[in-house]
Amino acid sequence: MSQDTIDPQTPSHTARSVLVTGGSKGIGRAIAADLAAAGHKVAATYRSGDVPDGVLGVQCDITDPEQVEAAFKAVEEAHGPVEILVANAGITKDGLLMRMSDADFEQVIDTNLTGTFRVVRRAVRPMMKARHGRIVLISSVVALLGSAGQVNYASSKAALVGMSRSVARELGGRGITCNVVAPGFIETDMTAVLSDDLIESYKKSIPVGRLGSTDDIAAAVRYLTSDAAGYVTGAVVPIDGGLGMGH
Ligand code: NDP
Repeated sequence: MSQDTIDPQTPSHTARSVLVTGGSKGIGRAIAADLAAAGHKVAATYRSGDVPDGVLGVQCDITDPEQVEAAFKAVEEAHGPVEILVANAGITKDGLLMRMSDADFEQVIDTNLTGTFRVVRRAVRPMMKARHGRIVLISSVVALLGSAGQVNYASSKAALVGMSRSVARELGGRGITCNVVAPGFIETDMTAVLSDDLIESYKKSIPVGRLGSTDDIAAAVRYLTSDAAGYVTGAVVPIDGGLGMGH
């Protein structure tokens, strides 16, 4: 096997330059580690903390356009233009609608929606040149289900579906796919704040009967970013144990 090929058992056969946003923990960290294990050249952004072994860490707050530009430049220098982008970084600032401040709404939109727009826009030009690209946006089951106390978060995540499908339509002819992965409840820091009672009640509404793992999400991302997934675009792939069925 040459240096540019990877294990033929994995869905993608070419080692590609990957950027995962929010690779310091949780879902993004698992995705970065998994794509590195598949043989790709993986970079991941972090604000605090670190990134998995074998992954290039680039410090970047996606709400800051200059930091986004610098992060892409660093990846391009080290690994070449980004061929696979996983826009994963996201935050919550929950609260009931009546009490939600403008700042809490705007901060979530600026990170989850505008931040994602910034990285996708920066990624696509080299992908267009290469006539190949894989973009995955990490949304949420609540994008379509809605969620009491998460008007800001659900709005931001629902918007990613419109973004992804528009990118899919604009750039499908250039060999670029753009898909959404919509996780259900996944065991990470983001869900660690939920009470045991709430988790038990969620489990009752999840047909598979458990919370998801970060590996469940990484497996879906590995497929969607593979060379084999070139005919999948504009899809919203639920990885939620059946929680969101019916949409
Ligand atoms: P975590 O809180 O564990 O991790 C979030 C990651 O995003 C961290 O690496 C964090 O970096 C990064 N991040 C946050 N804000 C910014 C920013 N402004 N710029 C750059 N990076 C940032 O969350 P999860 O792993 O649980 O969630 C990952 C994604 O999956 C999110 O988009 C989330 O909305 C989504 N999701 C999660 C679900 C779950 O059940 N856990 C369910 C559905 C969707 P740092 O820590 O370095 O600041």
